[in-house]
Amino acid sequence: MTRILRGRLLSFKDSPRRAGAAAYRYLEDGALRIEAGCIVEVGEARDIMARAPAQAVVDDHSGRLILPGFIDTHIHYPQTRVIGSYGEQLLEWLQKYTFVEEQKFADPARAAAVASFFLDELARQGTTTAMVYCAVQPESAEAFFTEAERRNARMIAGKVMMDRNAPPALTDDPQRGYDESKALLTKWHGRGRLGYAISPRFAITSTPAQLEAAGALAREFPDAHVQTHLSENAAEIAMTKSLYPEARDYLDVYERVGLVGPKSVFGHCIHLEPREIASLARHRGVAAFCPTSNLFLGSGLFDEAGLDAAGVRVALATDVGAGTSYSMLQTANEAYKALQLRRQSWPALQAFYQLTQGNARALGLEDRIGALEPGLEADIVVLNSRATPAMAHRMESVDGDLKEELFVLMTMGDDRSVAQTYVAGEKAKPD
Ligand SMILES: [Zn+2]
Repeated sequence: MTRILRGRLLSFKDSPRRAGAAAYRYLEDGALRIEAGCIVEVGEARDIMARAPAQAVVDDHSGRLILPGFIDTHIHYPQTRVIGSYGEQLLEWLQKYTFVEEQKFADPARAAAVASFFLDELARQGTTTAMVYCAVQPESAEAFFTEAERRNARMIAGKVMMDRNAPPALTDDPQRGYDESKALLTKWHGRGRLGYAISPRFAITSTPAQLEAAGALAREFPDAHVQTHLSENAAEIAMTKSLYPEARDYLDVYERVGLVGPKSVFGHCIHLEPREIASLARHRGVAAFCPTSNLFLGSGLFDEAGLDAAGVRVALATDVGAGTSYSMLQTANEAYKALQLRRQSWPALQAFYQLTQGNARALGLEDRIGALEPGLEADIVVLNSRATPAMAHRMESVDGDLKEELFVLMTMGDDRSVAQTYVAGEKAKPD
């Protein structure tokens, strides 16, 4: 089937901070042609429509913005029922809420139901790819991959590995964590649009032997991703240093076992020391900025400009359920405010680059997703800048300025602004 989307096309080729006006392409009356789940042609609407086959389905989104689908680089699907839990910082929050909830994921039926809710919610928010933590039970990852495959969504996920400092029901051991991860990886990595992320939760919940095993798996499967947490909160850093006295710093706990590389995404990275920053840049690891989570748990303020200037690859993420919104628009909103507190500027074009092409690059997926270009997969979001009365009212004074419109979208927009989401060329926003 041929599908044509018509509307205002916006797509990034590079970071606006580096490339300026050459960073993006905008077509006021553009169109793209989709066949077999991929974009095959992009251009002015009159040209694309003139060449369209007679039986093509045309989705006319004139007046609305059409962008690549949003990408969330760090999120926990088993935490959908603890989002918005009151009053704690990281380590207490994990014990009191998360570790209680995650025990329920041994039940495959529950895991399947939550995975279905979660993927519906991402589609509703215009998020078409995410890098996802499952729970420790392999059933939780199995349920997630099964549901993602059914939807033909490009997703990366992994079962968390944890063998200490958690309830017994949530711990594996070094050998079991390795075996279960390897079995899931072998089954799901590269199957359809799915990828596996080796996922030791963080240094505190893994013994040195478990991190060794995770590193061995990463060496065996250099093509797979690695995801974990790094330098989120002062108490966490102090505890990590006491558990790993031989390590030079927090990053070194991962570095010495081979878990720091271009496929590794580290959540938070707030309180990094100079050696850690230099090493992260040298190994091409990714720092995932999770502003709603960092503010919610009172963890601290991410140094986006500093890390970028030091050559660290930066990503943006929700970190639901410590993050408080599934919306990447709202995540950009909070990122802007957190950076304001550090006197760092983050223009709307930079934000929308990060939500799409920037996050695709952070995951090494820019040859598949993250732009509206022929040959890429047709994961797309359609945005309505006048979705609420207050937005429509505000838009009356925007007067055709794209940057200003984007800033209104990221400050006032949320799932109501997502008019449609396409996954591999098919409509995916639930009714
Ligand atoms: Zn997290």
